[in-house]
Amino acid sequence: MKKLLLIISILSFLSCSSEEDHSPENIMDMIFVENPERTVKVNIIYVESQDSSDKSSYNLDEKEFINYLNGYYFHRLGIGLEIDESKKLINDELYDLTDNQGSEPSTFFTQSQETYDKDKINIYIIKRSNIRGIAGMGRSQRVLLTDEHLFTSTSPHEIGHALGLFHTHETGNIMSTEEKALRQSFNKEQEEKIKKRIDQINLGS
Ligand SMILES: [Zn+2]
Repeated sequence: MKKLLLIISILSFLSCSSEEDHSPENIMDMIFVENPERTVKVNIIYVESQDSSDKSSYNLDEKEFINYLNGYYFHRLGIGLEIDESKKLINDELYDLTDNQGSEPSTFFTQSQETYDKDKINIYIIKRSNIRGIAGMGRSQRVLLTDEHLFTSTSPHEIGHALGLFHTHETGNIMSTEEKALRQSFNKEQEEKIKKRIDQINLGS
């Protein structure tokens, strides 16, 4: 019974629904710092299927994406995200999650197990059209984001999960699940937790 409860609680913070989320440009300014105290490496992994893999179907300006994350959310905490590898993963199970509706988090978990680097944050990107009702998920250094939600508060929210954070009800907090358009910052406690986790990641533990 205890084990079942644990599984349910893990799944409940893993996947985050896709309703109204926007880019924060109307409520926030970007802030960059010269040399952030801490850096963490990021892998960007484009999920493709056997059929889609010839033509790259994603059109992401990776530099712009990392600038977005750093400028709005992470540099102000003294944390710098740095792109390390950018790669393609051919995985039909993960590519079309509509086939795994209801078990998306466990599918993501199983299918990413062999391809994520433990000393980085690993961002898997899939098509919004290939998943229903979920904007993203995150846990244990792994994030799954749909292409339509990359430049919304869903990205830092899922990275928060990947760095060990849970949901909160605080309005305006990145880890809140309500009023997504208002989400803009991590609180002090979350900040400390994230920093500690990044230090562990960089030490390879
Ligand atoms: Zn969440």
